[in-house]
Amino acid sequence: MTQEFFDEGALVGVLTTQPLDRVLDYKAPEGGCWLGAFVEVPLGPRKVLGVVWGPGRGDWDISKVRAVNRVLDVVPMADEMRQFLTKAADYTLTPMSAMLRLATRAPGLGDAPSMRKVYRLGTAEPERMTDARRKVLEVLRDYGGLAFTLKEVAEMAGVTPSVVKGLVKLGAVSEEDSPRDLPYPRLDPEYGSKELTEDQQAGAQVLRDAVRSGRYGTTLLKGVTGSGKTEVYLEAVAECLRQGRQALVLLPEIALTSEFITRVEARFGHKPAEWHSGVTMTERRRCWKMVGQGEAQLIVGARSALFLPFRDLGLIVVDEEHDTSYKQEDGVLYNARDMAVLRASLNSAQVVLASATPSLESWANVEAGKYRRVTLTSRYGAAVLPEMTAIDMRSEDLPGSRWVSPSLQAKVQARLERGEQSLLFLNRRGYAPVTICRACGHQIGCDDCDSTMVEHRFLKRLMCHQCGETKPMPTVCPSCEVEDKLAPVGPGVERMAEEAQALFPQAKIAVLSSDLYGSARALKEHIEAIARGDADVIVGTQLVAKGHNFPKLTLVGVIDADLGLQGSDLRAAERTFQLMRQVAGRAGRAEAAGEAVLQTFQPEHPVIRAILGGDEEAFWAAEAGERRAAGVPPYGRMAGIVLSSPNVQEVFDLGTAMARQDGPLRQIGAQVFGPAPAPIARIRGRHRVRLLVKAEKGVPLQQALAAWAKQFKLRGDLRMAIDIDPQSF
Ligand code: ADP
Ligand code: ZN
Repeated sequence: MTQEFFDEGALVGVLTTQPLDRVLDYKAPEGGCWLGAFVEVPLGPRKVLGVVWGPGRGDWDISKVRAVNRVLDVVPMADEMRQFLTKAADYTLTPMSAMLRLATRAPGLGDAPSMRKVYRLGTAEPERMTDARRKVLEVLRDYGGLAFTLKEVAEMAGVTPSVVKGLVKLGAVSEEDSPRDLPYPRLDPEYGSKELTEDQQAGAQVLRDAVRSGRYGTTLLKGVTGSGKTEVYLEAVAECLRQGRQALVLLPEIALTSEFITRVEARFGHKPAEWHSGVTMTERRRCWKMVGQGEAQLIVGARSALFLPFRDLGLIVVDEEHDTSYKQEDGVLYNARDMAVLRASLNSAQVVLASATPSLESWANVEAGKYRRVTLTSRYGAAVLPEMTAIDMRSEDLPGSRWVSPSLQAKVQARLERGEQSLLFLNRRGYAPVTICRACGHQIGCDDCDSTMVEHRFLKRLMCHQCGETKPMPTVCPSCEVEDKLAPVGPGVERMAEEAQALFPQAKIAVLSSDLYGSARALKEHIEAIARGDADVIVGTQLVAKGHNFPKLTLVGVIDADLGLQGSDLRAAERTFQLMRQVAGRAGRAEAAGEAVLQTFQPEHPVIRAILGGDEEAFWAAEAGERRAAGVPPYGRMAGIVLSSPNVQEVFDLGTAMARQDGPLRQIGAQVFGPAPAPIARIRGRHRVRLLVKAEKGVPLQQALAAWAKQFKLRGDLRMAIDIDPQSF
């Protein structure tokens, strides 16, 4: 890779993280700088972060151009990365400065490295050798002179830090100052390899060959929960490590990473680098720098890890690729799955999309011959897929304000008697979704949003799930001022837990819902305790649907299988299908067989029938047919434009004007729908109006959208957000 160098005083264009949306000219500093260098530049009275993006434009009086303050002590941004940011910005219609902010999320990037103590093999031999001391020396010898922190040495050797300190006193281990950012221990691709089944072996071979090709390609790795997808894609990671290239594994949920990290350690001998919101600032900075230097071989992270400055990225795995949390819904609106494919194509890297219930998008890409497909058909070992049946709620004898049918109750009771776990699944946080006044019928809503306040009994407050605002539970109706008439309507997980405790007084009940834990760590610990068996009945939201192993779980009861099928969203069927299959997949992973039951009032609904029947190919084909007929993704293209303002008239006026002046869109044959109130018509006091744009595949949609939007000035407090490939339509 040859990169351009700019001599001192040469004019360079610097892209900064400030919202200016153009590259600014500066003079290269003393000693010059490389294209791609991370620099600090003066901007008005401030110093800001930027990247040398190319030569300056040069139509300036050079004597008036300010100079770059300094070049930061990090590896310059690679050409591929600059291309990636540019293309991602074009695709998502995002300003370049915002893309650069995503790519520079390393705390203290510009700081000089501070020092800390590190330890390596010393010169002396201790007179008295103990087992613990021997382990420390062996570990350090294995690493041939590499230095580690005290914690790392102690952990690797399985001894207390005092043993290491003792060896320092004797001169057997040397202690020295080192810059804070240490490389990660080398991973060994041959370390803990498992014997694979024939099915897995064949899949692993396809992925290994793909990685070895050194070219871009995407493979959909489809297999039921527990079929060993993780084992198989770890073989692709191993091959990538053998090639000396870097690998990235994206996971949808931080709560899942600890289990995954343990598996990586068992497979490759050491922990990988981690990148997500649960990681300390110091560790994030270390990760960012080492990724750039090529000294972090494997990164396990959240979607934002896609914007790390990889030196030579050879493989990206997107686990649970169908998961909606891969779509970033704030700020830069991007889908990590699509960005992974873009990044890999620019890096000659491979992508593996793993899922038991792939997105229709990926399924269609396989159909179209764009993606390879590898399928694992059976669960590993003795585990079999749970049997799935429906409970027809119309024929269950159930008093009001109760949700566990007698049939489901009997099944849970049987599990309790056998010492097995049950899961009651309800995708609703809080105690009750609605609080109503029985005197006047008033529903308590959020002051700032068009949504009801959800009672959270553990917190003893009402909470708005749109803006997060909370208020104490009132005792008097805010509308008619009658006392003690407010009552909860409908169930949330907290209320389900109450019912479960009443039905099974001897049982230990655990609630798994993302809002009940102060920190990601607390949640992780709770999940681990439950997996070990520290609960008889788990009451949970979709948090439990995401890939964690509960070996003792043999029954999944879905409280309301109809919940996701309401509303007009064209993706509702797909989402419900995925969620129900994922939840059911939690049951019966180990020796005991599992069972999943869906409580439903419409057992003959085609989606419920498809879930029970388990003929996925038929379901996807039917869904595909409907989407194709409607001309929507993945067979057509869509964009959502959300306009918002505190003034409702203003948003509608702009929306109407935009719908009328749709020339640039008509030129590419696109249609505009709306303006209509957005799915949530008011959030945080801002009224929201949405326009939907539908176009055929293959037309320059982004260009047309940009030209269209440019016709309108956003006056006052009006805001416009363009969402390419919206989640709901
Ligand atoms: P998936 O990712 O498809 O849900 P996993 O890779 O998590 O499946 O595998 C399910 C369980 O089976 C895990 O505990 C895993 O360690 C185990 N397993 C899968 N394949 C093998 C294998 N070839 N040898 C040993 N254990 C395996
Ligand atoms: Zn609100």
